[in-house]
Amino acid sequence: MPDKSTQLVVIGGGPGGYAAAFLAADLGMAVTLIDPAVNPGGVCLYRGCIPSKALLHVAKLIHEANEARAWGIDFGSPKIDAAQLSAWKDKVVGQLTGGLGQLVKQRKVNHIQGTATFKDNRTLNVTDSLGAADTLSFEKAIVAVGSSAMSIPGFDKGSDHIWFSKEALELSQIPKRLLVIGGGYIGLELGTVYAALGSEVTVAEMMPTLLPGVDKELVRHLKKQLSDNFKEILLETMATDPKVQKNGVKVTLKDKNGDATTRLFDKVLVAVGRRPNTDAIGLENTGVKVDNNGFIEVDDRRQTAEPGIYAIGDVAGEPMLAHKASHEARIAVEVIAGQNVVYEPAAIPAVVFTDPEIAWAGLTEAEAKSQGIEHTVTRFPWAASGRAITLGRSQGVTKLVIETATERVLGVGIAGPGAGEMIAEAVMAIEMAATATDLSLAIHPHPTLSETMKEAAEVLHGTATHIYRPLRNK
Ligand SMILES: Cc1cc2nc3c(=O)[nH]c(=O)nc-3n(C[C@H](O)[C@H](O)[C@H](O)COP(=O)(O)OP(=O)(O)OC[C@H]3O[C@@H](n4cnc5c(N)ncnc54)[C@H](O)[C@@H]3O)c2cc1C
Repeated sequence: MPDKSTQLVVIGGGPGGYAAAFLAADLGMAVTLIDPAVNPGGVCLYRGCIPSKALLHVAKLIHEANEARAWGIDFGSPKIDAAQLSAWKDKVVGQLTGGLGQLVKQRKVNHIQGTATFKDNRTLNVTDSLGAADTLSFEKAIVAVGSSAMSIPGFDKGSDHIWFSKEALELSQIPKRLLVIGGGYIGLELGTVYAALGSEVTVAEMMPTLLPGVDKELVRHLKKQLSDNFKEILLETMATDPKVQKNGVKVTLKDKNGDATTRLFDKVLVAVGRRPNTDAIGLENTGVKVDNNGFIEVDDRRQTAEPGIYAIGDVAGEPMLAHKASHEARIAVEVIAGQNVVYEPAAIPAVVFTDPEIAWAGLTEAEAKSQGIEHTVTRFPWAASGRAITLGRSQGVTKLVIETATERVLGVGIAGPGAGEMIAEAVMAIEMAATATDLSLAIHPHPTLSETMKEAAEVLHGTATHIYRPLRNK
């Protein structure tokens, strides 16, 4: 017999799990949250979004200081104290996770520091941080156990010279030569950090493009800048046969023609994707089903195949992003509370926090095309934005994908500094079914980069103020 019970148990304390636990407590449920860390936060706060963005902020500062030379301001070469920088990043993480710990107490969530596995469809085996084992029965459960970094054959965890994102974020040292395997957003963001701190960064990506699947035009903007910041970007290149030695790792880089070179790097960062943590949580003792990619199968209410057990966040499917996890948390908890809600986002924004940032929401041009939607693409180049020029950053673009018949905004892509902040307006527009005219009638503050959204909308009717692009049929 279980010796303890709870109305709702949330397994995993990341942005999915803690958001779920907090909302459930706010709605009056008795909640137990189980996570191995002393405070909630999960991958995102401890070893993902937050530490990476703290370090990317520093990278941005260094770039801006470099750019200022052209305007007559020379700050000299930066002196980097990696230990102090790492301590500052840890302080940021501590402040945020500590704050979440306070919110756990204020909301009277029962936080068990430990791990849980399913014993059956209404009981968990729980092991706390001291190794004590117990069971916990529940009425409802939300599984929010997240994901882990994937590896590739030969590049095993445990070597000092082979890093995954967690080790790279520890900033134990700044390697002279860093090989980043994988041109996805995590590899490019961490490559940006280390390049700014002084590493020679080589990126090896096996696909023909960086950020596979992302709008090619946005990626082109980014690649142009990254080609200046990184030592080299090797596309259609496989990294194989790592040989760890005292002074680093020898890696074979094989291009699309099969030509191979062996090179020595001080560190290798493996950033080839993440996989859901569904292997070892006892799902086989329940009716929960897992798909071929290891994700828990959920319906539009985030309920699994086992009634009463829900799944959210990275473990419940793509996109593996923190804001998607916390949105799903809200849906799952409201469903449990008896509300009539579904998970049906029209747009989930995605941001790559490189320099320039790129961000998108809704349909990309390629998706609109492949779905057979009649659409028009409008663009406003940042070279015509007063604000972009005051920042010395006129390389960006704001592009809209607009449904031709209704003039509804279906998708937005932005490349340029601040794209990650700007994309929120696009999400709002897409969710509210705004038309291009709605965007152009909304007064945007001047001079800001947000005006590029309004002007990109005005391009549809050939009336954007700061570029001359009359309609062809006029
Ligand atoms: C380097 C990096 C940068 C990133 N940057 C961004 C970004 O800028 N923006 C963004 O949106 N996303 C970013 N992500 C992705 C983001 O971190 C994830 O999408 C997000 O953390 C998923 O949240 P989650 O709640 O599903 O799970 P997680 O945050 O992974 O949390 C799961 C928690 O469950 C715990 N757990 C696992 N098994 C058990 C168990 N059996 N019992 C109890 N607890 C368990 C884990 O220890 C963990 O604390 C980044 C990821 C990485 C690695």
